[in-house]
Amino acid sequence: MMRKLFKFPGGLHPPQHKEESTKQSLRAAILPKRLVLPLHQHIGEAAKPIVTIGERVLKGQMIAKADGYVSAPVHAPTSGIIHAIDIFPIPHPSGLSAPCIVIDSDGLDEWCQRVPQAEYQYTPPSHLRNLIRNAGIVGLGGAGFPTFIKLNPTPGKVIDTLIINGVECEPYITCDDMLMRERADEIISGAQIMRHALHADHVIIAIEDNKPQALEAMKIATRGTDIEVIAVPTKYPQGGEKQLIWVLTGKECPSDGLPFQIGIVVHNVATAAAVHRAINLGEPLISRIVTVTGSATQQPANLEVLLGTPVNELIEQCGWKDNPDRIIVGGPMMGFALHTPSVPVVKTTNCVIAAAQKDVSPPSPVMPCIRCGECAAACPVSLLPQQMYWHARAKEFDKIQDYKLFDCIECGCCAYVCPSNIPLVHYYRFAKTEIWAQEREKEKANLARQRHEARLARIEREKQEREARAAQKKAAAAEGKASAIAAERQAEVQAAIERAKSRRDQQRGKAEQMWQQGGRYNNEKEKQAEIQAALNRAKEKKELQFTAPKNIENLTPAQLQQIEEAEARRRRLAQATPPPTNNE
Ligand code: SF4
Ligand code: SF4
Repeated sequence: MMRKLFKFPGGLHPPQHKEESTKQSLRAAILPKRLVLPLHQHIGEAAKPIVTIGERVLKGQMIAKADGYVSAPVHAPTSGIIHAIDIFPIPHPSGLSAPCIVIDSDGLDEWCQRVPQAEYQYTPPSHLRNLIRNAGIVGLGGAGFPTFIKLNPTPGKVIDTLIINGVECEPYITCDDMLMRERADEIISGAQIMRHALHADHVIIAIEDNKPQALEAMKIATRGTDIEVIAVPTKYPQGGEKQLIWVLTGKECPSDGLPFQIGIVVHNVATAAAVHRAINLGEPLISRIVTVTGSATQQPANLEVLLGTPVNELIEQCGWKDNPDRIIVGGPMMGFALHTPSVPVVKTTNCVIAAAQKDVSPPSPVMPCIRCGECAAACPVSLLPQQMYWHARAKEFDKIQDYKLFDCIECGCCAYVCPSNIPLVHYYRFAKTEIWAQEREKEKANLARQRHEARLARIEREKQEREARAAQKKAAAAEGKASAIAAERQAEVQAAIERAKSRRDQQRGKAEQMWQQGGRYNNEKEKQAEIQAALNRAKEKKELQFTAPKNIENLTPAQLQQIEEAEARRRRLAQATPPPTNNE
């Protein structure tokens, strides 16, 4: 049954320039003397070196391990000596340099031990994913996303369809076309392994109808299987993941979403071939097919190139014809011009275009936007490129996001058709970069605020703990003091009781003694004498009270005279008072 195909909006039909590089068969590039391997050749975290300078490594040996979940290891593409681990220029639009491992080839091309995985059908998908991960395989269509992650859907998510992308819609690029023509079996083998890992029911291989030989080869390779090979109409950017899903299934991938959310996973044909080599041959990703083309090359071709090979050496192998005006990595729509041709081929390098002056017309002057709407008509994502351009120019980054800036796949269709030659995609890239930078700043500020708040909370907590400890100490001290005071009081009370008791005992003893003494008086005369003696003692005591005036040192003579007179009066009065009798 013929599959119904759907049309996506917009798109272009630019000149293809594919014939130049498909006249020759695939061939291996010359082994270079020195290979430069960037640690960051994929989306995610850069790999971490695990070798040292001067160490000998074998072909296929891991030299940098994945650093984090979204990361991929790097392997030695040939045997040789580690010459340096340092910063070198890399193929990037910024022209910046990045950490790389440099290997001096020993010319022996000696493999490390390769361990193929027999009978993948009986191997658990998780083990297959680990092998694919350790082989350093990333998306070879240009995106560079670690492949094992796309083979590891969210638990509970059913992947219904696996699409193998052989569309290759950008002009000039033919590496996938040649791979399908010459290594169709490897692609099918890799597709079956990926299908097993995903438990996918359907597998579709999509190829643009401008590649009849590739279509034929893939159809032959899929005979006897239920894999569908579908020819899709030639139109740029048909190879975009979301556009291809729409064309084949009529399903729309959610904005800001990923294909697995609608039960579909898309992998490039070259990625499928790399998976086959990793599982069935035990070979990590150390080489890839690169299209070398452009008017400045004598013999455009597709070469199997070891990763790390300098781009200028690669062009050299196809022969320089003219002085290139610029060297582009990737296609003319989504690629970028190199700042220097001495950068290495990396996992995502699918095409090198040495463009002569005649290929590249001098940049046309940029004119004001005439609001013609051509850009909106060409956009395959149905965005409003003109409005996004105004907001990007005005740096109104909030407003540009309302126009779904992040749905833009940077295909360049809008800029291609713009009659005013406005480099629209540059504006969108600038806006995206600014928004990411602002988000990073915001994130940093949030982290700093959280740290500051946590610090204040800690200081407050420590203060409260200190205060609680001091209060506890004080309470304990107060308790100790109170009990000491209570004990002291208790002791005082006890002492007073003891004193009172002692006094009472003394008085009792005295009374008893007196009573006993009273019993000893033998006659009345002795008794009277004793009474009289007591009376005399009392009298003396009383007199003494009157005869010892106090605090008289500072008195005047007149005052002293008055006191003397008063004392005399008291004495007289006392003498006039009759003495007490023994009956009183
Ligand atoms: S195509 Fe160019 S000139 Fe026309 S509306 Fe878009 S940005 Fe403006
Ligand atoms: S670059 Fe973005 S805005 Fe322009 S056509 Fe492509 S998807 Fe649309």
